Amino acid sequence: MKILILGVNGFIGHHLTNRILSQTDWIVYGMDLADDRLGEAVNNPRFHFLEGDIAINKEWIEYHIKKCDVVLPLVAIATPKLYVEDPIGVYNLDFEMNLAVIKQCVKYHKRVVFPSTSEVYGACTDKEFKEDESFLVVGPIQKERWIYSCCKQLLDRVIYAYGTRGHLEFTLFRPFNWIGPRLDSLYVAKEGSSRVVTQFIAELLMKRPIALVDGGHQKRCFTYVDDGISALMKILENKNDICKSEIINIGNPDNECSVKELANILKNLFMAHRNHRNDKAYSDIVEASAESYYGKGYQDIYFRKPSIEKARKLLDWKPEIGLEDALRMTLDSFLEENRGAV
Ligand code: UDP
Repeated sequence: MKILILGVNGFIGHHLTNRILSQTDWIVYGMDLADDRLGEAVNNPRFHFLEGDIAINKEWIEYHIKKCDVVLPLVAIATPKLYVEDPIGVYNLDFEMNLAVIKQCVKYHKRVVFPSTSEVYGACTDKEFKEDESFLVVGPIQKERWIYSCCKQLLDRVIYAYGTRGHLEFTLFRPFNWIGPRLDSLYVAKEGSSRVVTQFIAELLMKRPIALVDGGHQKRCFTYVDDGISALMKILENKNDICKSEIINIGNPDNECSVKELANILKNLFMAHRNHRNDKAYSDIVEASAESYYGKGYQDIYFRKPSIEKARKLLDWKPEIGLEDALRMTLDSFLEENRGAV
C-alpha cells in the first residue's frame, strides 16, 4: 500500500511513519516543513520525503494523491493558544488548505483518513462523547477559540457528505489529548503556546511557575501516542472495509485527570527524576485567570471524555498505557531531548 502523509513530521505523522516502516511493507510519501522529528525514517528506502509547504507545493501534492492509495492530511494548527492568537491562520491552514486536498481525493477517487478532533464536541455535556450521537457545542463568535472546532466540524461534514453520496471513501478519527515523545518543542513552550503536558514539563525544566488556568479543575483524558497509533494502524488496514464512512474516537477514558492533578503528578515525577532530584528549587504551582493566560477570545472546555465503544467494536482495540506511565515516558523523553538546553 502507498500512503501519502501531509504533515509527516508532526506529532502524529512521525510516530505513524515510524510504526508503518517498522511493522509493514507499505511505502510512505511524506511532506513537511522539516524532518527533525523523523529520526531513522529518513534513511528508509520505503520513505520518500519532500521538504515543502502545503500552501506552495501543490503540484507535488496532486501528483502524489494520484500515485497513492490512501491520503492522510495531517497538516493543522492544533494548539489552543494559537486559535485565539491567529484564528485566520487556523482557518486558512486547517480549513482551506485541507479542503483543497479533500477535493483532490474526490477527483482521483482516493481513500482519505482524516484527523477530526475531540475539540469538535466542544462544551458538550454528555458524560462520554459518542461519535454518532453527541451534540457538537461551541460558544459565541467573540470566543475565537472555537474557530478550530468549527473548521474541523465543517470539514467532517463536507467529507461525510461526499462519502455518503458515493464520491469519497473516508474514515474520520478523533484523537483525545494524545501525548508522548516529541509532542511539542521546548521552543514552543518557551513562548507559552504548547499543549498542557509539554507546557508543564517545560516550565519545570525552566524553573518557571506552572499556571493552572482558572484553578485547573478542567479534566482531560490523556492518551499515550503508541496506543493512538495502534488504533490508527487498524484504521489504515481497514480489514473488510470495517472503517468505511465511520467516525472513530481514539482516546483513553481511564486516563481522566484534572489539570491540577496533572500538574502535581508531573511535578512529583520531575522531582524524582535522576537528573533533577537534587535541584535546589522547583516550580511553584500557581493559579491564573483564563483571560490573563490566553486573552479575551478563550473559553475553556471543562471535561472531555470519549466513548471508545466504537473503536473497541470496529477495530478490536483498547488503550493499554495508564496515565502515570504515559506521563513518565513523555517527561523522560522531553528531558532527555532537552538536556543542557536550559
Ligand atoms: N492549561 C493550563 N495551563 C497551561 C496550559 C493549559 O491550565 O499552562 C489548561 C487549559 O486551560 C485547558 C487544559 O489545560 O483546560 C488543556 O489544554 P491544552 O492546551 O493541552 O489543550 P485542550 O485539551 O484544551 O485542547
